[in-house]
Amino acid sequence: MSDDIDEPPDSSDVGDAEPFTYNGGRVDPGESANIRYGISETYLGDPVRIPVTVINGEHPGPTVFLSAAAHGDELNGIEVVREVAHDWDHSNLHGTLICLPVMNVHGFLAQERYLPIYDRDLNRSFPGRAGSTSARRMAHQIFTNFIEPCDIGLDFHTSTRGRTNMLHVRANMENSKVARVAKAFSSNVIIAGEGPSGTLRREATQAGIPTITIEMGEAHRFQRQLIDRALTGVASVLAEFGLHPESSVHWPGWRTIIDDDNEKTWIRADAGGIVDMKRGRGELVKEGEVICVITNPFKEEEDIVTVEAPFTGLIVGVLENPVVYPGNPLCHLVGLSPDTLTALERERTTDRSRADRRTSESTLD
Ligand SMILES: [Zn+2]
Repeated sequence: MSDDIDEPPDSSDVGDAEPFTYNGGRVDPGESANIRYGISETYLGDPVRIPVTVINGEHPGPTVFLSAAAHGDELNGIEVVREVAHDWDHSNLHGTLICLPVMNVHGFLAQERYLPIYDRDLNRSFPGRAGSTSARRMAHQIFTNFIEPCDIGLDFHTSTRGRTNMLHVRANMENSKVARVAKAFSSNVIIAGEGPSGTLRREATQAGIPTITIEMGEAHRFQRQLIDRALTGVASVLAEFGLHPESSVHWPGWRTIIDDDNEKTWIRADAGGIVDMKRGRGELVKEGEVICVITNPFKEEEDIVTVEAPFTGLIVGVLENPVVYPGNPLCHLVGLSPDTLTALERERTTDRSRADRRTSESTLD
């Protein structure tokens, strides 16, 4: 961990590239390694090992971790991390990448969010502690070996199962180093906040490793468009911090940072029933427009509940599994500043005219 990440590293004054070392191993500059690192043991006494790929560039620069599946059923990030580790050309890498595609091995095997052992949340167990609970011991192994040596971090998540998120970043924007990482990721939406205690991004940030969370899509899926969008974000961060000096930082076209000043709410169902969702993730809805309709099995008129947008905003998260109890979340709606609203409406108009052009071109064929 170095303190100089406010300045983009310059290979001429950073000195020589150094080996990356962890408990029991080292990866020299110019080398990469696929490691299965033991963090626990099963009931049968067999090792529980997480996959780790370390890519140490020939040139000196920052060390960046990319992590996924702290929640075992959140899969989109796994593919992001794997493609960065194994499909990208890192022959001119200035720095080191620590790629952790599956942190919660137990949850991944069971395709569950939590560690099946007493339903512990690995992403509330960081930085962990030796001699503590099983979850904290695992977190401690990951944190000390592969997080603490880093300069910045990107932790990938999806929505909880049954819901979906538009791609957005969550970051403590009051920390200027975290804000730099968050902006470099070039998402349209950043939700500001330090995050709950025990989350990787909050604890890593507190330990001096500015870390953001990327939320994207739903559990149990590979969603190609979102994965590609996240890969653009990773490339942009690596450009911002000089790891890939030949690439450039990406500007998303518009950006809104949602903080305490923004109107935002989880709209919840006031009736149990079956949900006909009218709007999707990432859509703009105007105040009073219908978001969804909740009906009973017979679609009886007197039981139909129509849910309208309480204010104009962006649907950041939305229900996918179309059934609710009263109190279940339907969608996460966030208000936008007038400037953002104008930029967003302009983008939507351009997208529509592009789509119209494509349609008219295809009818010519
Ligand atoms: Zn998660």
